[in-house]
Amino acid sequence: MYFVLFIFIVIVLMWFFQLVALPVTYQNMKIRDIKRVGKLISTQIAEENYKELFDKAAYDNNMCIKITDYFGNDFYSIDILAGSGAISPKNDATMQTYRDLIMSSENGIIQVVVKNERFNTTTLLYGRLIGTKEDPIGFLFLNTSLDPLNSTISILQRHLFIITIVLLILGLILSFFMAKHISRPIDKITKSAKSLAEGDYNVHFDGTGYYESEKLASALNFASTEISKVDNLRRDLMANISHDLRTPLTMVKAYAEMIRDLSGDNPQKREEHLNIIIDESDRLSALVNDILDLSKIESGNSALNITEFEIGEKLDEILQRYTLFKEQKGYTFTLIKDEPVTVKADEIKIEQVLYNLINNAINYSGDSREITIRQINSKKSVRIEISDKGDGISPDLLPLIFDRYYRAEKSGRDIIGTGLGLSIVKSILKKHSFPFGVQSELGKGSTFWFEIVL
Ligand code: ADP
Repeated sequence: MYFVLFIFIVIVLMWFFQLVALPVTYQNMKIRDIKRVGKLISTQIAEENYKELFDKAAYDNNMCIKITDYFGNDFYSIDILAGSGAISPKNDATMQTYRDLIMSSENGIIQVVVKNERFNTTTLLYGRLIGTKEDPIGFLFLNTSLDPLNSTISILQRHLFIITIVLLILGLILSFFMAKHISRPIDKITKSAKSLAEGDYNVHFDGTGYYESEKLASALNFASTEISKVDNLRRDLMANISHDLRTPLTMVKAYAEMIRDLSGDNPQKREEHLNIIIDESDRLSALVNDILDLSKIESGNSALNITEFEIGEKLDEILQRYTLFKEQKGYTFTLIKDEPVTVKADEIKIEQVLYNLINNAINYSGDSREITIRQINSKKSVRIEISDKGDGISPDLLPLIFDRYYRAEKSGRDIIGTGLGLSIVKSILKKHSFPFGVQSELGKGSTFWFEIVL
């Protein structure tokens, strides 16, 4: 439509210039010519061979020249239009009218377009007074044809007419093909987008046709694979969470029933069963807390509350809370601190990172039960390492463990874990833009590290 509109505007402009502007321009040009010749003649009139000069001027400029005295008697006259112009050879009524016109004009000059009905010609007549109105000497008339313009215009019009028709047809055909060419890939993309919206993540966007549509298609292909990933993750997450919620719930219910029906009167058994119920409830609340933490961090609702604190003190403080593990379960914690350094970070969240990493080290340290925590200062950051001498993680699992809800198969149910600990660590550190990672060797242990950027 825009293309057709454009062609239409071009055609209208062309017609306008042909029909309106061209005659005006041509006439202005002729007026300039006539004035020039008029001036030329007034300078040449004193020459001896003025006749020859006037003849030449008349032929050169394709112009009739007539000079009369005040009463209309010819002083000089040449009619190269052979009577088809505006000047009549005789001193008749027509010439009298022109003389009167000149005399009544303000500055003694007239310019008129005259149509000669007999020969069907159009000419431009220029007349001026020689001398002054008070003391008139004579009149100068110049007359030039405007007809070449008419014939040119009619030729041009015919051409223009043909050009208009060709342009219109060509424009229509072209715009039809262009519309098809542009809209076809967009149509295809729209169809694919609809099926993507209906949940078909395998849909392929095909935008072959032109550069922009291809780019759009490839962006949409990328978007659909990303959406499908998120969708898979959501499905896995739902399945895993509901599975992990159901298992402790079943246990709680089973042991509660057991106490009601069987062990209610047996204090030892009852104690044992109640402890299982308490453990399972703990597992449940840990899971629910982790899910809440993670969704809070990831939804961006929990802005970082950056404060300054001494990292070495923080490590001491946290390790103190593991005294129970030291005394009752035989774990050894080695803390290797560097110079005291104040860092800027969200204290509570960094605490959570440390807890999660130390808990993992405890859970996966195997029989060695040795955990080492290191603080390594550098110019730009403080690196914290938490190492254990457990079973380690196989290299193919390493890239997965920071993923939400990933748990190694063998972790089993004897280790309390939700599979969310490391993804919480990852979310918090990413929010801080702190680098983090893990080095691990099967059978030798793992070292989880992160760097608090100063
Ligand atoms: P979980 O609650 O299962 O510990 P995490 O997200 O904290 O969940 O950890 C994900 C998985 O990464 C764990 O299930 C475990 O297989 C592995 N993992 C984490 N920390 C360690 C570690 N220190 N040693 C060996 N494996 C680990």
